[in-house]
Amino acid sequence: MSALFRGKFLDHLKHCFKRGDLAFPGSISHLKEPGTFDIFRKQFYEKKWVVYCKPPFGGPEGVLQYLGRYTHRVAISNNRILTNRDGKVSFLWRDYADDNCQKTMTLTTDEFIRRFLLHVLPERYVRIRHFGLLANRNRKDNIAACHKMLGGKNATKEKKRETWQEQLLRICGIDVTVCSICQKGKMCRMERLLPVRCKSPPEFIR
Ligand SMILES: [Zn+2]
Repeated sequence: MSALFRGKFLDHLKHCFKRGDLAFPGSISHLKEPGTFDIFRKQFYEKKWVVYCKPPFGGPEGVLQYLGRYTHRVAISNNRILTNRDGKVSFLWRDYADDNCQKTMTLTTDEFIRRFLLHVLPERYVRIRHFGLLANRNRKDNIAACHKMLGGKNATKEKKRETWQEQLLRICGIDVTVCSICQKGKMCRMERLLPVRCKSPPEFIR
């Protein structure tokens, strides 16, 4: 396939030259001469070409499915976890070194959690970056402009970001602001105790 691709490519290049489709700016302006260009072009028949080919994705759905597998999932899906008992977790994994063979691995719960947490991104790191209209830098203005152009009301109301305390209460029903001893008193922060050597930006400490 490499030889065929090379032949087709260089033949096409010859036709492009004949039609005057090619530009030769600056340091390669000498290639404009037909004789020079032909010598230049023919040297590539001697080179070893490497052609990489991959079956195409089956349309936009295929592309989304492919990306979705990587962007919106956690380190391990529930169905891969087989058992969790006696302080040990067993789960399925694929051994790429062994012909992609599916195997079972058993780890202590602590080690399993440790490995799982390695996949949790630090705060402000993102898995998905938006490009174009939704690029972070201009998103707010762009979306507002879109709404304006579409004649709709500005639906992008500023949403207040939930604190971790509010999140914990909403998801797990645990209110960390309530005193754990009497279950009545409200806890409030008196002072921040920073680590002695603190390199994190202040936003990290909540
Ligand atoms: Zn109390």
